[in-house]
Amino acid sequence: MDNYDKIFINGAWVKPVGQDTIDVINPATEAVIATIPACVAADAYAAMGAARAAFHEWSQKSVEDRVDYLRKIHEGLKVRAQEIAETITNEVGMPLKLSHIIQAGFPIHQFDSMAKVATDFDFETEVGNSKVFREAVGVVVCITPWNYPLHQIAAKLAPALAAGCTVVLKPSEIAPINAFILTEVIESVGLPKGVFNLVTGTGPVAGEALVSNPDADMISFTGSTTAGRRISEIAAQSIKRVTLELGGKSAAIILHDADMEKAIKGVFKAAYINSGQTCAAHTRMLVPESQYDKAKKIAKDVAETWSVGDPWDKNARLGPLVSDTQFERVQEYIEKGIADGAELVTGGLGKPEGLTKGYFVKPTVLGKVEPKSTVAQEEIFGPVISILTFKDEDEAIAIANDSIYGLASGIWSDDGERAMKIARCLRTGTVDINGGAFNPNAPFGGYKQSGNGREFGTYGLEEFLEYKAVQL
Ligand code: NAD
Repeated sequence: MDNYDKIFINGAWVKPVGQDTIDVINPATEAVIATIPACVAADAYAAMGAARAAFHEWSQKSVEDRVDYLRKIHEGLKVRAQEIAETITNEVGMPLKLSHIIQAGFPIHQFDSMAKVATDFDFETEVGNSKVFREAVGVVVCITPWNYPLHQIAAKLAPALAAGCTVVLKPSEIAPINAFILTEVIESVGLPKGVFNLVTGTGPVAGEALVSNPDADMISFTGSTTAGRRISEIAAQSIKRVTLELGGKSAAIILHDADMEKAIKGVFKAAYINSGQTCAAHTRMLVPESQYDKAKKIAKDVAETWSVGDPWDKNARLGPLVSDTQFERVQEYIEKGIADGAELVTGGLGKPEGLTKGYFVKPTVLGKVEPKSTVAQEEIFGPVISILTFKDEDEAIAIANDSIYGLASGIWSDDGERAMKIARCLRTGTVDINGGAFNPNAPFGGYKQSGNGREFGTYGLEEFLEYKAVQL
């Protein structure tokens, strides 16, 4: 077991003032694999002070100098890619072969791709008699979740550093070990002291102390809508900039003219990845009413190909859920769905056969789900797909948009023009047509209660910049 007993402030590993610790649990074995400090307000303030003190010098560096550090971090992470993948498999439960690509590969790539984006970005333009500069917003607090932990950190840290901001990171207390690896890499590349600081602990204590701190100019948050709302309220007291990447309840519309089998396989990939613990998971599958029986049969067969097991086992497509709390929550939703009249197509309550230890759930499909029912409206965050039916295209759009969320959606159709027309009617930040792949340079973020702001590419960089107009 690893005991992390220090946090990183002003370029050094220091003992926190907070004496309590938090256990990190392997969700496949239920064993405690590490402990981390539960920081208190004094730790948060010390980190904020260091970030504030480092801001002027860092923000005045040339973009080339800052980007050079991003490239060094990229190289440093690449060397530790295997360890990162294994660590996140142990913290989160994602099957190792996927962890390599997603949990390690994506964040490592992010530092390199943001170096390119910032190099090509116009930090100065002219408008009439004004020179318009894009300048760092200031000291940024980054608060991140556990589901794609390093990916979500990189999506904030790489553009913040490139923009000239200094950062205090508070990673998820559920999957924090990857953040310690990143910090070791940052230390090894000699990033100027105070530019990056790591504080660990819970949201209500360490997180809120950071958000309310007067030295914070911006809060970049990814996590639940509940925590996002609370953070917005606190930050509003001093008019801090807040960007929020929150929850989702994304719909995938399968039109009459789509190849049903291909489409359903695609929807499962978009819904079940990381055991359904993905903000953009396509968990509402909308099929034509006339094709419900066919869709149900295919969905049952496809669900049963999603083998559940030890995330270190090459044959497992689904690992456990991240925690006991998450397991209980998903069980409650399955129970509620059935109680509200949904048809249990496959899966259901309890653990899969032979898996008594670990937070494993059965890949589940609920059929004939009513659009207003709880399981069609609330984020479940588990491998649970709800099948809903529609009579025509207009009804499909209306059902897809009937959500407080607006993060992502999917359309499956043989007619590209028709699919694009529907895409423009969906109130979501991203739309995938026929399983279009995730693009790490396209803007990612939500409409409605899925958040404010965008991450990745130029769009992600701009979130960390202010405008300054100098009149001549
Ligand atoms: P969470 O909101 O419980 O925690 C996220 C982070 O916020 C953690 O670091 C936590 O310690 C911190 N936090 C919690 N309460 C806080 C408070 N009052 N003040 C300050 N910080 C606080 O979310 P989670 O369970 O870690 O992640 C799952 C949620 O994240 C899901 O709702 C999911 O949809 C969402 N998510 C969204 C995106 C996106 O890009 N839109 C990506 C991944 C996850």
